[in-house]
Amino acid sequence: MRVHVADHPLIAHKLTYLRDQRTDSPTFRRLAEELVTLLAYEATREVRVEPFDIETPVAPTKGIKLARPKPVIVPILRAGLGMLEGMVRMLPTAEVGFLGMVRDEDSLEVTAYANRLPEDLSGRQCFVLDPMLATRHTLVMAIDYLVGLGAQDITAVCLLGAPEGIAHLEEQLADVEPPVTLVLGSIDERLNEKVYIVPGLGDAGDRLYGVV
Ligand code: URA
Repeated sequence: MRVHVADHPLIAHKLTYLRDQRTDSPTFRRLAEELVTLLAYEATREVRVEPFDIETPVAPTKGIKLARPKPVIVPILRAGLGMLEGMVRMLPTAEVGFLGMVRDEDSLEVTAYANRLPEDLSGRQCFVLDPMLATRHTLVMAIDYLVGLGAQDITAVCLLGAPEGIAHLEEQLADVEPPVTLVLGSIDERLNEKVYIVPGLGDAGDRLYGVV
């Protein structure tokens, strides 16, 4: 797995306000969107493109456009939805699929409760969005699922990760070819006993959408 921590003062600045418990939901949503747009810049570094001819007012030249089949963006419900707009802004012609995953707070087991994805992802580049990489295996399940549908070339985009979550992902996805790329805003210190990232930002879904 290739791990890329986006090291940029603007990202650190926006993450600081995202972490702050005084930040309200509307501001949190806006900051999450802005952060993802910055992370998307890194995450799409190897997006497939193809050349095509254009003419400027001065001369003919060659340009590039996104290659077909189009990339697929997959936010993991519910918190991944808060990252969708920021990603789509950078890749407006990408297709969007949805995966719903939920964790049982007692057993920490993750199950899929919703799936709206193309049946065949052969040859597709996929960008999976999940704000928090803890240990809850959500990303592993989601990526396994996409690989099973034939996805090639998967990039996971997270706002924050814990070292334990990254190690787990690395171990579980060691055999995926080509290797999965993980792009993060920050690697935090650790997980606490409730499997929250420390210092983290709390429950990303609740901070985006309230406690429901
Ligand atoms: N999920 C969250 O929303 N926050 C954490 O800290 C860990 C997992």
